[in-house]
Amino acid sequence: MRYQKNELLELRIEDMGTEGFGIGKAEGFTLFVKDAIVGDRVEARIVKAKKNYAYARLEKVIEPSPFRTEPKCLCHRQCGGCQLQALSYERQLAFKQDKIRNSLIRIGGFAPEYVDERMEPIVGMEEPLRYRNKAQYPVGTDRAGNVIAGFYAGRTHDIIANTDCLLGPVEYKDIMDCVLDYMRENTVSAYDEKTGTGLVRHVLIRKGFVSGEIMVCLVINKKMTEVSGNEACAKHFGRKSDGESRYAAPEKRNSRDSHAASTKGTWREAFLPQQNELIAKLSEIKGMTSISVSIQTERTNVIMGQEIHTIWGKDVIEDTIRVRDTKHTDWPYTGRELTFRISPLSFYQVNPVQTEKLYSLALEYAGLTGRETVWDLYCGIGTISLFLAVSARKVYGVEIVPQAIADAKENAAGNGIENAVFFVGKAEEVRERIPDGDAAGRHPDVVVVDPPRKGCDEECLRAILDAAPKRVVYVSCDPATLARDLRVLCDGGYEVERVRGVDQFGMTVHVETVVMLSHKKPTA
Ligand code: SAH
Repeated sequence: MRYQKNELLELRIEDMGTEGFGIGKAEGFTLFVKDAIVGDRVEARIVKAKKNYAYARLEKVIEPSPFRTEPKCLCHRQCGGCQLQALSYERQLAFKQDKIRNSLIRIGGFAPEYVDERMEPIVGMEEPLRYRNKAQYPVGTDRAGNVIAGFYAGRTHDIIANTDCLLGPVEYKDIMDCVLDYMRENTVSAYDEKTGTGLVRHVLIRKGFVSGEIMVCLVINKKMTEVSGNEACAKHFGRKSDGESRYAAPEKRNSRDSHAASTKGTWREAFLPQQNELIAKLSEIKGMTSISVSIQTERTNVIMGQEIHTIWGKDVIEDTIRVRDTKHTDWPYTGRELTFRISPLSFYQVNPVQTEKLYSLALEYAGLTGRETVWDLYCGIGTISLFLAVSARKVYGVEIVPQAIADAKENAAGNGIENAVFFVGKAEEVRERIPDGDAAGRHPDVVVVDPPRKGCDEECLRAILDAAPKRVVYVSCDPATLARDLRVLCDGGYEVERVRGVDQFGMTVHVETVVMLSHKKPTA
């Protein structure tokens, strides 16, 4: 039998798919029900029917699952961000453990016993809300013409007004309210995707959880010369008799921060109408360290434009990552720590507390004694590389984004690390980057990879197999591509030794995984 769109039916949810949909059956027909939880008995309405399956919307929970919990965020069903808020946190962890296990079995082709012998329990969060250090709020206009900011409703570009996302720090709401008040008071327009007009597109906020430093970056649709009111701003900043801006940057904190030094006593270019009013409001917020604009004039879904101008404070914020002891269940600090510079465009892990656990596990899996040569492929701003460098002879970091490599070099210098070398390039071309004469560099003892969701390029896996390191540590944010790549490495002579999930993204379906592989001993 085939169901029709809009039909209502009652069913029991028996499982949950990798994207968080509840899965149930009605007369042999499979239904994917958004917002339904395994164990629920629900009434669902078909929204899209295919030959053997259909997507449905949850209309009513008839009998709640024992795993159901009251979601804390009122927007959770409309917003696409938190797919699992109605599932108890304990079950979220079980869901993620299964997601990794099932990928290894179904996609990687590993036997269930092989996986179970190697998988360790997932590392959960102590507090699964307010954990994100980064938020990107789209700005738009509601039907009544009011400027709003919030989140895109799942799979659309309709903005749901909500400045208090429960995954981010509480002060992000104050920051967004400041920006929206400023826009309303000064009739600053919001960007309209349909027409490509309007000024403010997005607001990016980042916070260093250890340092307390906050960065705000407004993504705007115009170049400076096009912004009206520019003249007034220039006057305000440039012509004060003492030459000091009222909103001068905080004192330069260290010699690495050269740009901030040049700001005191000068006026900054104005990119926004009445820019000084915005700065006055935002700079009052505790921890505010950097305010910038990013110019994005393209009609694209890419949020950030590459051109960044600091309008107040420093160009970067700093944050510290501390190594934790992986052998203890409460993850105590070991006393080792590193400090990183984060710019608006840098990639930086979004959950700082869990990142410490993730990196500490990766470090443990790398099993370094101080004599090893290590490749850190997809190294970003060098976070993992520098942790490795503390315990290795030499580390080579490779990353495709030039700005990230510039940051990695600065981070190495700032932490006094001299045995890490960084190259701009594709991970798959790592060998070409290391000089012929550097025999040790071309034959690493350990290779660490931390690719984006699409996983490692085939060429990159080939380069690893050719280099034949003793150990490979794979840090992954997508179990499906991880499983695919592990199959290639295992067919090429590696054995999976340990697998452990780390929940970096509570309330969402995403999960991070660390895997240790070792080279199989040649058979005699
Ligand atoms: N290990 C880092 C970054 C991981 S994110 C950390 O933990 O912070 C993945 C990184 O891979 C991004 O910085 C991205 O720019 C980079 N990247 C994407 N494709 C790449 C490729 N083909 N070669 C090298 N780096 C790549």
